[in-house]
Amino acid sequence: MGLVQKSVSALAFALVVASASTPARADACPRKGTLGTSRILRIDAASYPRVGLKNYPQTLPLRDHEVVLTFDDGPWPPTTPKILEALASECVRATFFLIGEPASAHPDLVKRIAAEGHTVGFHTWSHRSLKQIDPSEATEEIDHGIEAVEMALHGVDTTTPSTPFFRFPGFETTPATLNLLQSRGIVVFGADLWANDWQIMTPKQELALLIDRLEVARRGIILLHDPKAHTAAMLPAFLRYLRENHYHIVHVVPNGPAVDKEGAP
Ligand SMILES: [Zn+2]
Repeated sequence: MGLVQKSVSALAFALVVASASTPARADACPRKGTLGTSRILRIDAASYPRVGLKNYPQTLPLRDHEVVLTFDDGPWPPTTPKILEALASECVRATFFLIGEPASAHPDLVKRIAAEGHTVGFHTWSHRSLKQIDPSEATEEIDHGIEAVEMALHGVDTTTPSTPFFRFPGFETTPATLNLLQSRGIVVFGADLWANDWQIMTPKQELALLIDRLEVARRGIILLHDPKAHTAAMLPAFLRYLRENHYHIVHVVPNGPAVDKEGAP
């Protein structure tokens, strides 16, 4: 190998190392060559009270090859930052349904999720099944979860969510809890497809399962879990699959004046 070749390959290696160790920046988006976020979809509970065909008769108005990425059960310091890195490196915006208890413990991570442009929804205080407890306890689980995330985000003690999006732990609803959320103008998210990532699996198995299901559904709200290490490991490859197969990312935000007007490219 000649000297020039040698220094070129050394430089190439240095660049690879540098790009691997430099955190992707969400504020450097949109960026050419990335998957990107193709559009913003503004919704409210009046038009879309409950969405996700796995759970409800209606879903979001997505076109063929449009997907919404959602992540449940965070924030979780060992893995949520990896999810954020993968999303930022592809300029993709997602929705995170946070649990109140870890949100209280890791407010900086909650703020980072929001600062990187993602939507922050709610997933109760401690992820108990709201079907198994009495109605007043269920209301408390919902409200305490909202309070904890709002405190982490804005330092405000309130049970009014700044983004009125909610997902039930384990999709375990009751007529009373559904009515409560509807009466408060909060959109209930189900999902259109998922990767069963709550089970033990390798990133490769998860990727294959998710792609198989997406090839059938061709669109939809995708449910993943950011505290799962196999999901964090799988996500870069899944985003690459979406880019190479001409999928489009839709970012869901609340319909209202409080929404960030900057957004997708
Ligand atoms: Zn959950």
